[in-house]
This record gives sequence, C-alpha cells and structure tokens, in this order.
Amino acid sequence: MKNKPLVAIVGRPNVGKSTFFNRISGHRIAIVEDTPGVTRDRIYADTEWNGRRFTLIDTGGIDPKSDDVLLKQMRYQANIAMDTADVICFFVDARSGLVPDDEDVANMLRRTKKPVLLVVNKVDHAGLTNETYDYYALGLGDPIAISATNMLGLGDLLDEIVKALPPKEEGEDEDENVIQLAVVGRPNVGKSSLCNRLLGEERTMVSDIPGTTRDAIDTPFTAPGGRRFNIIDTAGIRRKKVIEAESLERYSVIRSLAAIRRCDVALLLIDANDGVTEQDAKIAGLIRDEGKACVVIVNKWDAVEKETGTLEKNRRQVLSDLRFMDYANVLYISARTGQRTNLVLKEAAAAYDQYARRVTTGALNDVLGDAQMSLQPPLMGSRRLKIYYATQPLTCPPTIALFVNDAELMHFSYQRYLENCIRKAFGFEGTPIRFDLREKNKEEIRS
Ligand code: GDP
Ligand code: GDP
Repeated sequence: MKNKPLVAIVGRPNVGKSTFFNRISGHRIAIVEDTPGVTRDRIYADTEWNGRRFTLIDTGGIDPKSDDVLLKQMRYQANIAMDTADVICFFVDARSGLVPDDEDVANMLRRTKKPVLLVVNKVDHAGLTNETYDYYALGLGDPIAISATNMLGLGDLLDEIVKALPPKEEGEDEDENVIQLAVVGRPNVGKSSLCNRLLGEERTMVSDIPGTTRDAIDTPFTAPGGRRFNIIDTAGIRRKKVIEAESLERYSVIRSLAAIRRCDVALLLIDANDGVTEQDAKIAGLIRDEGKACVVIVNKWDAVEKETGTLEKNRRQVLSDLRFMDYANVLYISARTGQRTNLVLKEAAAAYDQYARRVTTGALNDVLGDAQMSLQPPLMGSRRLKIYYATQPLTCPPTIALFVNDAELMHFSYQRYLENCIRKAFGFEGTPIRFDLREKNKEEIRS
C-alpha cells in the first residue's frame, strides 16, 4: 500500500550519481535506511516532487567489495534496475564524454520497456549544452543536461522523472508517519479495556474532530514518544447489541479482517485464562496471510495463578499453538491493572519499523551468498535451484525478490532456511517476510 514507485540511478563510477543523490537529499529527502556497518552508502531515499512521492535508489552502492570488472558490475546494476525500478535514470559524464562501457549499458537499457531517462551530468555552464548532442547516439531519447554540483537542471530532471512514473496507486498518499493499528481478538478478550488504557493514559492528544470520538471507526492519537498512531475499527469498543454468542465469535473474525486489511500492525489479543483458541488461531492466520506486522498480547495476566516459570511455560505454549505466527513477539499484560501496558505501543512501533524496513541489495546478497555456501539448495531430481541474486524492491511487508533459474526448484524448507538466515542477519522481528521468485535465464544475466 505504502510502496512508492522506485526510480533507479545507474551509471559508471564518478559520473556524479552520489553527488546528485546528496543534492536532492539535502532538500527534500528523508533517508529511509542507513545500514550501519554494512555499507556507508545511503542508497535508498524517499523524495517528493510536484506532489508525487517516490523512492530513489542509487544502484552504484551495490557491491563495493566485489573484484568484478567494472562492466560486469554495471550490467548487474542495470539488471537490478530493469527488474525492479519503475523509472531508470542513466547517468553519463559530459566531461569524460562517452566511453564504451556507457554504450554497452545503453544497449541493455534500450531493451527494457521501462522508461529510461538519459542524464548527462557535469554540464556546468550553459555553453556546454552542445556537448549533449553526442549522446543522441545512445538511442535513449533526448539527453537531459544537468550539473549536480552547480544544481543546474535538477528541477527539469525531476519533472521528467515524475512524468515518467506510473499512475498513482491507491493508498500511496497516505500519511506514512501514522502507524495504522488494529486491535483484534475474540469478544471479551479485553480489546476495549486495552484501547481505553492506550487512549486514556498514553495519549497526549486525541483528535477532537467530530466523528473521531471513541465510538468512531478511527481514533488517531500521539504516544508519549511522539509516534503517531491510528487505532482502526476498534471492534470491541462499540457495544455489541443483540448478536448471539455463537455468531458473535464468527462475526468478530469477519470484523477483524476488515481492520487487519487496513492496518500496518495488528495487536492480536488472547485471553490468558483460555490460552490460544481455534478462533485466535484463525485471526492469526488472517494477519499472516494479509502480510501484516503483529504483536501477540496475552491479556488478563493478573487473573492467572502464577508460580516460578509460569510465564515462560505459557509463552512456549502460545508460541507452539501459534506456530505459523512465528514472527510476532508475545507480550503479557493486564489491561485491568495496567501491568506492562506501557510496552504495547513500543512493541507496536518496533514491529512497524521492521515492517517498513529496507535492506540494501549488497548486504542482502552477502547474507544469501553465505547461506548458500553453508547449505546449498537440495537437488530436485537431477536439477538444483540457482539463485542469481536478490534484492528488496518492496517494504510493508519486506519483500525479497529472488532471481532464480527455475522457481519450481525452490523447496519450501529451503525457502524457510533462507528466511531464517535473513532474520538472523537483519532481524525483521514482528513482520512477515515475503519472497517473490522471478525466473531468469543465464543469457539474460550475462547480457
Ligand atoms: P558517483 O561515483 O557516480 O557516485 O560519482 P560522485 O558523485 O562521487 O562524483 C564523482 C566526482 O565528480 C566528484 O569529484 C564530484 O565532485 C564530481 N561531480 C559530480 N557532479 C558534478 C558536476 O555536476 N560537475 C562537475 N564538474 N563535477 C561533478
Ligand atoms: P472486548 O470485548 O474484547 O472489547 O473486551 P472488554 O474490554 O469489553 O473486556 C471483557 C471483559 O474482560 C470485561 O469484563 C473486562 O473487565 C475484562 N477484562 C479486560 N481486561 C482484563 C484484564 O486484564 N484482567 C481481567 N481480570 N479482566 C479483564
């Protein structure tokens, strides 16, 4: 929902890609991720121009450690850009002029159906525009002259990028700083009690806009740390009227689904007295299938008789009953006494941050390379899965595109293994991870 279009910047080293990137980010880009210790490059950045939001990727930062020859790396970058970006900006350097590597990459880019903008950088003075005529020879349309250092032509380039973007998708304009929170669970697990706690104690501001009272469908509020939330369709808050107990259970699952669809993070409430019931497992399944972040909350912990180790024993039971919801953390609270309810929003925000997180292509390929080194894909008949490379084009939830020889050779258990390796390296606690297998033949990779 919140995924903005991707704009990839491709080009030889030293053509000025990072200078451009930093110029833009000085203005209106909020850096999405800065992976410490992996690479210092800030390679993903969200930006906005003419009311359109998009994510810029500098593919130049891909693999600083590689000994690959330059051309091979550039092809690799161009491949990633063609596979994942909505618009590609191909940077060349007016000072050095055209070099064979530029032509080679242009040959690749000419074959893609995606819009490609040819950007001639280092045109520092108006007089130099003549030099851009040479670049028509690349067959990529009108060259766009800019000077990243002197900030010339950047607005025109951004105009062209926005024009080339695909049409806006629904949800793209949602305020991404507000975490959409669904509080779900069976009737009487304590949803309204928890919401009242969260809103009563934690809120610093509940909107006074008419229609956003507590019976309303959406209740926006700001938590003490400054994080903004919106509680969606707090089913329990509205009094259930004359629905019979049995249909009420079923009704609540359906109600949950509507809230889960719209949320970023689902708080799944479970009654500590009952443990995980079939209905609870059904709701957990919905959360997982919809690809949402989740925190499992065992409520009414005050009502449970405890001795040493009760909590750990209970946690093991919950985890085993909710096996397929293995990415969620489990929190033990009492909405009645307020025990640990202060942790609920912190956990929700932490899960959201992982849900919206992006890891760099370089780091991801390092991890998957090591994973395959430790355990190679199993043979299926006489054939074996080959993973050419991986990248994360989407967040919310994090989605890993794996470029493989044949998707049918991916065994469920091997995918599970790769997911575990990714989680070990990056965390992603609280969010599901999706895999998107895309087939490529060797020729495509080589060319
Ligand atoms: P990248 O390797 O493509 O990311 O290139 P950089 O952004 O690191 O730039 C390489 C060199 O070109 C640096 O010394 C920059 O200062 C210089 N450079 C970048 N843009 C311009 C420009 O518009 N004009 C001039 N004259 N130099 C530039
Ligand atoms: P909802 O239907 O999920 O919204 O549940 P409610 O919030 O209306 O709570 C159902 C019942 O459980 C009420 O009688 C609450 O007082 C009780 N309840 C809620 N939270 C707790 C808790 O933490 N401990 C105990 N002992 N009872 C609770």
